[in-house]
Amino acid sequence: VTAAACADARLARPAPPRAFASALAGKRFTGVMRKGKWLRLDVEGGGHVFSHLGMTGDWVRVPAGAPEPRFERARIDVLRRGRTSSVRYVDARRFGRLIATGATDDDIPEWTELGPDPLADGLEARHLSKAFAKSRRAVKEILMDQRVLAGVGNILATEAMWMARIDPRSPGASLALVDTRAIAKGVRRAIALELAERKKYGATALDSFFVYGRAGEPCPRCGTILSSVVLGGRTTVFCSTCQPRR
Ligand SMILES: [Zn+2]
Repeated sequence: VTAAACADARLARPAPPRAFASALAGKRFTGVMRKGKWLRLDVEGGGHVFSHLGMTGDWVRVPAGAPEPRFERARIDVLRRGRTSSVRYVDARRFGRLIATGATDDDIPEWTELGPDPLADGLEARHLSKAFAKSRRAVKEILMDQRVLAGVGNILATEAMWMARIDPRSPGASLALVDTRAIAKGVRRAIALELAERKKYGATALDSFFVYGRAGEPCPRCGTILSSVVLGGRTTVFCSTCQPRR
C-alpha cells in the first residue's frame, strides 16, 4: 500500500478516520477473509481492516488517472508487480463500516461474535434448535441475529420463512424440530437461489424473490394477498394462509 485515506468518521467509528491511513501506509496485505457480511483484510505485522458494505457500499478498482468515483469515502493506492492501481470504497448512504485495528488490538466484537456462516460452514437444524429454544423472540428476528447466523439478512430470512411455511412472528420456543428443519432447509435454499441468480445476471433482481418486496401481491403458492409487518425494525412480508403461526 503506497497510500490510504478514509474521509468519513461515521464509517471508521470507533477509530478515528486517520487510523485507517496510518494502519495501511507502507504495509502489505497478507490475506482476506469473509464471514457473513464482514470482510477482514489482514495487514502485515498483525493489524486488520474490517469492512462491512452496509446497504450501498462497494469496493471498486479505479485505473490510474481516472476521475474519483461518486460517493467515494476511502481509497487504498497499491503498487503490485511494478504497477500502481487504486481501490476505492464508495457508499451513497454510508451505512457501511471501515475499521482499522493495530497489531496489538483485539478483533472487533462485530467480527468475533459472528455466528457460523451458512455458506462457508453449512447449516444444521441442530444449531438453530439451540438458538430457538426458550426464546420468546420472533423466529425471523432470531434468524437475522448475526450472532446466530452470519450473513442472513432481511431478504434471506423473509424468503426462508415463506419456504418453511411458518409465520415469521412465531416465537422461537414454539417451534417443533420439524419446523426447525424446514427453516434450515429454507435458509439453505434461499442462499442457493440468490447465488444462482447472481452467477447468471451478476446481481439479484427484485422480481426474483417469492415474497420479499411483494406485500399486496398474491402469494405465489396459494394466491392469498401477501401481508407485511415490521419485526425488529424490518419490513417482513408473509402469507397469512400458508404460513400459519406456531
Ligand atoms: Zn400462501
